[in-house]
Amino acid sequence: MAEQLDGQLEDGTPTRTAVPCKRCGGWLVSEVSRARRMGPACARHERAEARRVDEPTLFELEARGE
Ligand SMILES: [Zn+2]
Repeated sequence: MAEQLDGQLEDGTPTRTAVPCKRCGGWLVSEVSRARRMGPACARHERAEARRVDEPTLFELEARGE
């Protein structure tokens, strides 16, 4: 039965389990990235966006004449 976990092929070629980044679709191979389903750069973007969610953008302030 074929193993899906990290290991090696019958000829000795090492294999790694990779999962696609949920943000950009890039393949993640590091344990940390796989655990959060996002690469380091995407995780940083995601955190920055989460902080900005409740703040009006400059464009919105201008539209209101403030
Ligand atoms: Zn990504």
